[in-house]
Amino acid sequence: MKGIILDIDGVLVRGKEIIKGSPEAVRSFLGRGMTVTYLTNNSTMTNEQTLMKLRSMGFPTAFVIGSAFAAATYIKEEFGPARCLVVGEMGLLQELVLAGHEAIMAGDGNRSFDFVVAGLDRTLTYSKIDDALHAIRGGARFIATNRDPTLPVEKGEVQPGAGAVVAAISTCSGVDPIVVGKPDPYSTELALKRMGLQAEEVLVVGDRIDTDIAAGRAAGCHVALVRTGDMVDLSGSSLPVYRDLLELSEEILRKGK
Ligand SMILES: [Mg+2]
Repeated sequence: MKGIILDIDGVLVRGKEIIKGSPEAVRSFLGRGMTVTYLTNNSTMTNEQTLMKLRSMGFPTAFVIGSAFAAATYIKEEFGPARCLVVGEMGLLQELVLAGHEAIMAGDGNRSFDFVVAGLDRTLTYSKIDDALHAIRGGARFIATNRDPTLPVEKGEVQPGAGAVVAAISTCSGVDPIVVGKPDPYSTELALKRMGLQAEEVLVVGDRIDTDIAAGRAAGCHVALVRTGDMVDLSGSSLPVYRDLLELSEEILRKGK
């Protein structure tokens, strides 16, 4: 295996908590000459901010692909620079601007846009949903960073995920969004491009079958699940399953592959 794509929430960290042994595991992958990418559906930070957060928690530098970056890149590649209404947090707005788009936060009554881009928004309001509804009614395309129902945080708890935000806009507009994050393979394919590797040379590691593993498989990569996230019912799955990332790294070391 020449490369490894690691989900962040539920694999490396839970909120501000480091999952035990995961920084060491990442170092061992790098030490074996593997190319590492941190790939997250979390849309609240830019790639750069995500890397800074991980570095401050003791993780080594590696490529980062977040769903905010994926959304901004998708719109740029498919449609060119666009006018985007953001129902999300600053990281999403910043990645859109970095990609050359005009990006405006929802909630101020602006409604003339090419795209409504929705992600996790922990200050969601009725007027933001209202702006998104009217932008979509006015012809804007609807893009979602992801539809994760929940976000794993400290002490095994969860909070509402981007999926709850997306569902609100989808329900009132009657429009199903284009989703760029996992389980869609788009962000995983961006990671492969960034690493310069073929899908069959790369292992995708995640804590969710319905997002990480689904995206990894759809992209044609090898896949492995770790049990440090929220998925407890693994009945009927034929996946390689590991207790945590450290166990997976020791297994790779042992097998020498
Ligand atoms: Mg996860």
